[in-house]
Amino acid sequence: MARAHVLLLNPALGPLDYRADRHHAVEPGSIVLAPLGPRQLVGVVWEEERLPSAEQVGDNRLRPLLDVYDVPPIAAPLRRLIEWTADYYLASPAAVLRMTLPSSSALDGARTIIEYRSSGAKPERMTAQREQALERIGQRQGLIRELATIADVSEAVIRGLVKSGAIEAVTVSIDTPWPVPDPEHPAPALSDEQQLAAGIVGEAVHARAFHPFLLDGVTGSGKTEVYFEAVAEALRLGRQTLVLLPEIALTEPFLKRFEARFGQLPVVWHSELRQSQRRRAWRAISSGDARVVVGARSALFLPYRDLGLIVVDEAHETSFKQEEGVLYHARDVAVMRAKLEAIPVILASATPAIETRQQAAIGRYTELRLTSRHGGAQLPEIETIDLLTDPPQRGRWMAPPLVKALADRLDRKEQSLLFLNRRGYAPLTLCRTCGHRFQCPNCTAWMVEHRLMSRLQCHHCGHSMPPPAECPECKDQDSLVACGPGVERIADEVAALFPEARVAIATSDSLSTPARAAEFVERMEAGEIDVVVGTQLVTKGYHFPELTLVGVIDADLGLSGGDLRAAERCFQQIAQVSGRAGRGSKPGHVYIQTHSPNAPVIAALLSGDAQSFYAAETEARRLAEAPPFGRYAAIIISSEKLDEATTTARLIGRTSPAVEGMHVYGPAPAPLAMLRGRHRQRLLVHARRSLDVQQVIRDWLGPLSWPRGVRVAVDVDPYSFL
Ligand SMILES: [Zn+2]
Ligand SMILES: [Zn+2]
Repeated sequence: MARAHVLLLNPALGPLDYRADRHHAVEPGSIVLAPLGPRQLVGVVWEEERLPSAEQVGDNRLRPLLDVYDVPPIAAPLRRLIEWTADYYLASPAAVLRMTLPSSSALDGARTIIEYRSSGAKPERMTAQREQALERIGQRQGLIRELATIADVSEAVIRGLVKSGAIEAVTVSIDTPWPVPDPEHPAPALSDEQQLAAGIVGEAVHARAFHPFLLDGVTGSGKTEVYFEAVAEALRLGRQTLVLLPEIALTEPFLKRFEARFGQLPVVWHSELRQSQRRRAWRAISSGDARVVVGARSALFLPYRDLGLIVVDEAHETSFKQEEGVLYHARDVAVMRAKLEAIPVILASATPAIETRQQAAIGRYTELRLTSRHGGAQLPEIETIDLLTDPPQRGRWMAPPLVKALADRLDRKEQSLLFLNRRGYAPLTLCRTCGHRFQCPNCTAWMVEHRLMSRLQCHHCGHSMPPPAECPECKDQDSLVACGPGVERIADEVAALFPEARVAIATSDSLSTPARAAEFVERMEAGEIDVVVGTQLVTKGYHFPELTLVGVIDADLGLSGGDLRAAERCFQQIAQVSGRAGRGSKPGHVYIQTHSPNAPVIAALLSGDAQSFYAAETEARRLAEAPPFGRYAAIIISSEKLDEATTTARLIGRTSPAVEGMHVYGPAPAPLAMLRGRHRQRLLVHARRSLDVQQVIRDWLGPLSWPRGVRVAVDVDPYSFL
């Protein structure tokens, strides 16, 4: 009789053993359906020695497997990646496996499903809810559950509309084959520098061996065209490519460039996919039909049949760090996946992270440099505006030189970008009579005014409320004032100064879906927008040839952050946003508004001497034994009850082991002492690079116990110090 050792999709459980009879032949990696009590769970057959069970169950007590899915087994390199990720980030293997199998419907053999859409007919009886549902659904199509979410009504409302005929069922074929991108589609001419780099990465794809590359090119140097040649090579070999992007909003400009190069679109993977799209993409990835996949970090754990190349674009972006669930860094896991799959990986960036530069410096990564802009474009000229000597008018945020530059661009019909990394209208609202400040009831954070939606909103938990007419403290009418600028306020200022200018706001609020991002790109390209006011979302990936002016409204915002990467991040952000200027034939100009024009970051941006800035930052990290020379792990203890959080934090602090080369700071209240209604305490572990800090933490926390309502999360290599 065959025993099957199965890792079930339940993070609370270790692997369990089942009986696999003749009809259910399995091998390691087989995806199976197994009974658990009265329930049925999906799982994957695993090597017993890799993930041993706590106890052995006798053969006679084994329950039989219910089914083996007719999809390719999870291959060994991905099984090793799941183990490595769970081990390194102190997560349960099942929680990581869930990212490989995010869609249970993908496992079913059915080729069609029923989706629903508006029929155009009005229901006989119209209610407010029905009206809302039909209006929000519009032309969209999906499962009843998906439509209910889109419309923000109950499923019963949607079912009622189906019955009344206003919403109709459609049969959707979900496994239609994907077109194959054509590597021989005419490619643009590459510069000598690009040609050289493209040749090297192409050869690496051909060699089928682990080879990490840092593709380090100035903004606008055509890094994408270079790695496209590696993608072309993988296509010629019949192998798959995964391209990771830091944000969904960047997918649209990427798709356009991809289609121009390969004549077809790649397969897209991100959280906004409908269930049927997700299923179709997953099956094509697993069968090998999806030849090129572009996606957010969640695409990293999918079961590619024959992966030949991984590209991490904008590899310095901190949004590759997952901050919920399994706390992993997609850039680092991508390199590990490439190693386990024995394939090349390309990290592309104009402003590589210090961690990545260091890998190149010690020779682990091959560095490929692109030093000039593509197509003869010049790098923009950068100058600072000292806000002390050249302040904006009272109640305004743009200093006179920036206003003048903006006026010039409007005259010349060129586009401008104003960068401020703050969503909404104002970051703080207070009462001018009594000084009351509006704070989120669930978080240690101010409520941010969003005037376009006329709401006050917390950016941490999403709590929102209409702006009150009177102060809740002193009851004064009309006493509330907005403090400081957000993008909406800057947009208002532009509109007041230049009433004829066409202004657009680009943030995660306004470009929340791929469709809205696509619309924004189209309007920019058609010249329907004169001035964009945007957050970090518009700092990278976009290529608008008519954009010649970039204004950084407040460079000091980035400088004030207290964590170890603040200066680096500030440099990256301003260098990236500056890189949007002058990408076509017209020269670009960048103005940086700041109170500290002599800060090293600003000086480095002005002189263009990134090397010495990075050298100084790297040296500071080396002295502090900060990453990449040492390591951190954060232990976050949270509970709805303050005393439970502090008691548990103290228990963990008290029992911290004395280990050479390791120091534990705290416990102390986390900077965000309250988040989503939970009180948070934090310990920070600082360790020598060579120390197996994960094992130390496992041995340390393993024997401890805490009340049920307490959550203890370990963040290995943290990026957020909140
Ligand atoms: Zn008041
Ligand atoms: Zn909140």
